[in-house]
Order: sequence, then structure tokens, then C-alpha cells
Amino acid sequence: MILDLHDGIRDFLRAPLRVFIDGRFRDTAVDDAIEVFDPSTGRPIAAVPAVGAEQIDEAVQAARRALDGPWRDIRPADRERLIQRLADALEADGEAFAQLESLNNGKSIGIARAIEVGASVDYLRYMAGWATKIEGHTFDTSAQAPPAGSRTMTYTLRQPVGVVGAIIPWNFPLSMLVWKIAPTLATGCTIVVKPSEETPLTALRFARLCQQVGIPDGVVNIVTGYGHTAGDALARHPGIDKIAFTGSTEVGKLVGHHAVEGMKRFTLELGGKSPMLLFADMGAQQQQLLARLGLFFNQGQVCTAATRVLIQRKIHDEMLDALGKVADSLAFGPGLDPASEVNPVVSARQRDRVQGFLQRADAAGATFASGRRDLPGDGYYVAPTLLSGIRPDMEVLREEIFGPVIVTMPFDDEEEALALANDTPYGLAASIWTTDLDRTMRLTRQLRAGTVWVNTHNVLDAAMPFGGMKQSGIGREHGREGIEHYLETKSVMIRYG
Ligand code: NAD
Repeated sequence: MILDLHDGIRDFLRAPLRVFIDGRFRDTAVDDAIEVFDPSTGRPIAAVPAVGAEQIDEAVQAARRALDGPWRDIRPADRERLIQRLADALEADGEAFAQLESLNNGKSIGIARAIEVGASVDYLRYMAGWATKIEGHTFDTSAQAPPAGSRTMTYTLRQPVGVVGAIIPWNFPLSMLVWKIAPTLATGCTIVVKPSEETPLTALRFARLCQQVGIPDGVVNIVTGYGHTAGDALARHPGIDKIAFTGSTEVGKLVGHHAVEGMKRFTLELGGKSPMLLFADMGAQQQQLLARLGLFFNQGQVCTAATRVLIQRKIHDEMLDALGKVADSLAFGPGLDPASEVNPVVSARQRDRVQGFLQRADAAGATFASGRRDLPGDGYYVAPTLLSGIRPDMEVLREEIFGPVIVTMPFDDEEEALALANDTPYGLAASIWTTDLDRTMRLTRQLRAGTVWVNTHNVLDAAMPFGGMKQSGIGREHGREGIEHYLETKSVMIRYG
């Protein structure tokens, strides 16, 4: 049964939605609006402004003023407290946020509660702790400075990188927002965020929390707009010191070019085609775990999704059959129905894109181990689909689909599994399922991926560095390494004698 919408959401959607610049919700000069849809019905639920370069400039200027204003001198402990307050406020309003995300993105309310809200609250609290733990070094230097007999010593200051321009995707809208805002606040930077045009709603609600907990004006700015206009203007803006981009590899490269052009710092969290290696020695316990894991989690709209499942030949037919049966037994339904197991993908465009991959795979001779099912009449549904009979040149094997589609391939031994796993331009994540410790030790080193899981998949933690090798990106988020990307090092040398 579909949940009754939280009162807060009805009020939120009834009020005109406006962008958040310099601590205030602004009426924008543009009359262009972006319609936002409920993917389970295809009906519009809201409209948000589509800002252009002018409003991006206003937001960047506000962020710059805030950076040069009292925010510069705020004590680390006070930054920590502000982030903690944001976490508390998000937790208190958690159900409204979860429902709003489910309504806008189509995702399961369970995932929205546990990950978009629950993990974001944890993330904020984790990053709050970093505010008071940013340290440089002090060291004796050998360089000689006149007059003769002088000595030098040096210390390093870790300073905020400056104004951050963040551009984020639609698959985990609130999580991605928090992944950018939390380290910004912990390090004393300021930020302009542009959420995806498909899923801007939780970001605008989050702006209200920033106001409510007293984040100083201009420190966090949230502007809605299209990628090729607002996103492009943000990426090119000379007032941005660092770009934090999460999205497709194609757009990431464009944004990266602009960053280099303006000598901005940048991190790119991009696409993936992650392998899952299932060995015959994985054992019954792991097999049960795997069945419960939810291979089609978030309709496969996960950058680390296990989209290439490599299965040792001895267990291949049995596993494929079991996984196919599970996939075909999952119940379709809106994300706001807690009993549903397959929810709509984010948009009609995405549904058509994924269906296009499936039609071409069919024409190329792939075998459907699941997915030949009738779909609900309304909404942007795609059936969870497992494909076998895959040849190395097939498009479904090589390209990121970003939908509930998994290709499976058999392998004979570890060497072949490793070669297949690494045969991709991407390098975001991988998982190994085995009970053999020696194999685990070998493969965790040899897989070319930023994250390797053993006997699990898709589990992230605020403390665990996350990011891609190869075409999956540059830099890391989370943990100490994530914090480093929001800091600059300044060396201070002192002569004494
Ligand atoms: P996308 O690249 O189409 O869009 C991402 C963001 O970039 C959106 O806000 C969009 O408006 C903006 N954008 C689009 N064109 C732009 C331009 N020319 N200049 C500046 N900004 C522009 O990606 P998407 O479809 O929103 O998200 C799916 C992609 O995100 C997948 O490839 C997925 O793997 C990736 N992703 C990666 C991670 C990670 O951490 N590695 C996490 C989530 C999603």
C-alpha cells in the first residue's frame, strides 16, 4: 500500500520553490521552469527555477563574500557544532526527506530512509569530527637564509581550498548533496551546489535546514538548473576554486577541461561497470548473502552496481538460474509502497535509454535469463534483467547502462576471472565472493578498482575512501583523503638566528 504523504511534503510542494542564495530563498529573474515528475505515475509534482549564468554568478559571489567574511575566522569547534546541528535537523525531518526523495526519484522508501537519510546523517556526524582535526606539520629546514648563521624552520597551514562548485547526479540526490556540503563545512570552504534537474527537491528542502540551524549566509548556496546552462556556467566560473563533480564520465571530462582551464582544483566521481566475481568456493553462506544483497538495488542506478557478474563455470548454470528466478519474482511498485521490490527508474528518458540497450542486446543475440515480463501500465518501469551468452564486443558488456540490467559471463579459473574483470575502461569498484584467503589477498591487489569488496557489494562508509581508477574518476571522497581535496597547503618558513 502506498504511504500517505507526510504533511510537510504537501506544504513544501504547494509553496513556490526557489533557489537558495546568500542565506535567502530568491525569486529568480528567469521565468523558465523545470518540471519535476513522479516516476511512478509520470505526472508532474513540482517546478523549480532553471537559473542561468547570471544567478550562478550571484551565488558564486555570495559564496566568495562568505569565505572572506566572518566564516574565515569561525572556530573549528563551531564549524563542528553547525554540522552536528545539520545532522540533528536532518534526522528530525528524516521521514519527510525520505518520502520526498522516493516521490521524486522513484526509489524505494526503505533505501531512502536507510541511505539517503540515515547514511547522510552519519556522514554529517563523521565529517563534523574532522573540523577539529585538520593539522599541518612543523619541521626543521636546512635551507640557508642570510645573514650567515641563521636557521630556518617551516610549518604548513592546511587552509580551505575556497569556493567549491558542486555538480551532482540524480541517483542518490540527498546523499550526493551531503557528500559535498559536509566536507565543505568541515574544512571552512563555502559552496554553490547544482543538483540534477531531474531530482532537485531534497536539495531545496535541505537549504531550509541550513537556514534553520544558522549556517552563515552565503556559506551554502543551492541553485537549480540544467547541466548545459547552469552546470556549465558553474564549471567555467572564475570565482570557483574547486569543482566537485559526480556524474557521467562524458560530462565529467567536459567539467574537468573547464577546471584545468581555470586552474581550479577538481575531483571527478564518474561512471562504472563494476565486476562481481563469484567463485565456486564461495560457500552456501555467501550464496545466501548474495541472494539477499539485492543485485538490482536502486534499479541498478548505482555507480558501483555489479553490472558484470562473472561466475565460475562449475556453478554458472545453477547460479544464473537462481538469480534469474529471484529477479523475475520481484514485485513492481512505486517507491512509496514499502512492499514493492522493483521501483521505477528516474525518468522516461532513462527508461527509454535502458530499453534501447535491451533491444540491441536482443538483436545481438544475448540470452535473457530474466526480464521478459509485463510491466505496470503507468510509470517508468524496467524489468530486472540478467543477460547471458555475452560476447566480448557486445555493447551491454562495455557501456554503463545505469539501469536494472546485469550481464553474466562464465570463467574457468582465477586468471581468466581477473582478466575479464579488468577488461573495462572503468575502475570504480569490484567484489570477490570466495572463502579462499590466498585468492582474496591476490585479487584485492590485482583488481583495478577504487573499491574492492570481499563477500559483499555496494557498502560504503563515511570513513572509507571512495573514488575511481581509470575512466571512473579522479580523487577520492570520504575519510581523510576526501577532506584533503577541500584543503590547500601553505608553507610558512621562519628564519631565526
Ligand atoms: P550526468 O553526467 O548527465 O549529470 C550529472 C550532473 O551534471 C547533473 O547535475 C547535470 O545537470 C550536470 N551536467 C550535465 N551536463 C553538464 C555540462 N555540460 N556542464 C556542467 N554540468 C552538466 O549524470 P547523471 O545522469 O545525472 O548521473 C548518472 C551518472 O553519474 C552515471 O554515469 C553514474 O555512474 C554517475 N555517478 C557516479 C558516482 C560516483 O561516485 N562515482 C555516484 C553517482 C553517480
